[in-house]
Amino acid sequence: MSNYVDELMAIVKGRSPGEPEFHQAVEEVAESLALVMERHPKYRKAKVLERIVEPERVIMFRVPWLDDKGEIQINRGFRIEMNSAIGPYKGGLRLHPTVNLGILKFLAFEQVFKNSLTTLPMGGGKGGSDFDPKGKSDNEVMKFCQSFMTELSRHIGPDTDVPAGDIGVGGREIGFLFGQYKRIRNEFTGILTGKGLNWGGSLIRPEATGYGATYFAAEMLATRNENLEGKTCLVSGSGNVAQYTVEKVNQLGGTCVTLSDSSGFIYDEKGIDAEKLAFVMDLKNVRRGRISEYADKFSGSVFTPVDPKADHNPLWDIKAECAFPSATQNEINAKDAANLLRNGVYVISEGANMPSTPEAMKAFVDKGILYGPAKAANAGGVAVSGLEMSQNSQRLAWTSEEVDERLFGIMKSIHKTCVDAAEEYGTPGNYVNGANIGGFIKVADAMLDQGLV
Ligand code: NDP
Repeated sequence: MSNYVDELMAIVKGRSPGEPEFHQAVEEVAESLALVMERHPKYRKAKVLERIVEPERVIMFRVPWLDDKGEIQINRGFRIEMNSAIGPYKGGLRLHPTVNLGILKFLAFEQVFKNSLTTLPMGGGKGGSDFDPKGKSDNEVMKFCQSFMTELSRHIGPDTDVPAGDIGVGGREIGFLFGQYKRIRNEFTGILTGKGLNWGGSLIRPEATGYGATYFAAEMLATRNENLEGKTCLVSGSGNVAQYTVEKVNQLGGTCVTLSDSSGFIYDEKGIDAEKLAFVMDLKNVRRGRISEYADKFSGSVFTPVDPKADHNPLWDIKAECAFPSATQNEINAKDAANLLRNGVYVISEGANMPSTPEAMKAFVDKGILYGPAKAANAGGVAVSGLEMSQNSQRLAWTSEEVDERLFGIMKSIHKTCVDAAEEYGTPGNYVNGANIGGFIKVADAMLDQGLV
């Protein structure tokens, strides 16, 4: 069956050269699915995975805008409409200077399986721009978002494609994007999720990814009759996902001792309690400052700047039981994985998308630790986005208890799907296979039902 993977990868690399993150994401899924192809030749015969790796539609466009000095700026905008077999395209928008076609294709591809795992009717998509919100004024961010949406509005709609936030896109950006859509189209519809509470947003949406990743860790621990109480946890990033991971870990009795941003990380041995977390939320969401300020504010904590020459990240070399990578792709390499395992980490729940390199993933799976891959562990965000869509359709708003309860139920169900699929295909405890297989089957069957489209 490695023939199957090799043949598929030759097609993917030949047709989409220069997209290493996309190749990495496809190869990981193909390796898991080789088990399915062997047992169910119908999927291979119908070239289902060969079809899934080819986006249904890719939209690339110019985003011109005027900065505060009156100078013309030009960015590139994207929307990848990857797969609509089980519902409208759904997935976030990323604003970061590293954004390119390959990164967004990897994210859109992952999103197809993740959305399927949530049990909700959502296809997969992803988009964004190489625009860097860092250092830009609110006015500049608004100008960019308005220009971006002017083009994007032609391609999205409540029954077609419903984007959300991702790196660099939070409440502020969703507001500017939604306002421009409404102005151009003269309609108030749920074309974005992550909206403000006063204008169609769902309670618990900001919290959902971090809460969900923590629930997933707790579910994995429960298979060993354990919980998060008293566990020391490493968290990377300090944005949306990282913040609400810390909040939920605290609620469940664990202690988070690290946070990071692209400049470095802080280590606070005493733990990031509710008061310190409130400082981080204000620092990152309102003042838009750097995480190093945490160490200036709280004695006993230490800031370590990024060393661009280092071959590993010292954040992952701290003694702990659990790790929640919540910054970006490939932030844990083979050396980091070895450090984590050596230091006693045996629970990893991925808040970020594809934060572990293939070598790191292999180390975790081979060691048999509780390793929850991103497409399962961080699916809580898109799940609550799906719930926001349901509330918008009904023109109702559910209470936070109701949304949180549903989120918890969905994370439990995703966990069970992974455990069952891994077991059924002869690799018990392998959540990577479980997530890839569990996510694939539903999409693949829908594609078979709908014919060659
Ligand atoms: P935010 O923009 O809120 O925060 C991102 C954090 O990660 C920041 O601390 C940022 O630091 C850091 N970061 C980003 N890129 C890099 C980089 N190249 N190197 C080092 N640090 C980096 O984004 P989110 O919290 O929303 O997203 C974090 C991860 O979670 C992403 O992988 C995203 O795809 C994933 N995710 C998010 C979901 C959501 O609902 N928001 C849903 C599912 C997954 P700095 O400010 O210095 O750039």
